[in-house]
Amino acid sequence: MTKWQCSVCGYIYDGDEAPEKCPKCGAPKDKFVKLDDQAADLVGRSRFSNNLHMELLTLMEKAKEISDKGIKDALDPNCVSLFKSSLAAAIDIQQKVKAELKAHMNKGKWG
Ligand SMILES: [Zn+2]
Repeated sequence: MTKWQCSVCGYIYDGDEAPEKCPKCGAPKDKFVKLDDQAADLVGRSRFSNNLHMELLTLMEKAKEISDKGIKDALDPNCVSLFKSSLAAAIDIQQKVKAELKAHMNKGKWG
């Protein structure tokens, strides 16, 4: 699909024509620039990857909840040890994902 970018705020709009005004900053239609195929493709690829990162964040949030329950349950020291390491791993992955997403935003790989 054709993609249009607001030259004022960077908002990306999908549609055959640019919107009457920017949904984010309210800039008029003539402030929108049509993205070429290469730029539009990059936006599509970035969205896919960003969505995967967001899914991973959600999954790790769940892993943290499970680990917390396991630690509280404290059946035996081996179980607690395993849940503590899964908690640490989930936090580690979340921090790395957040850093990567921040890098995407700084490189403009977000839209
Ligand atoms: Zn805008």
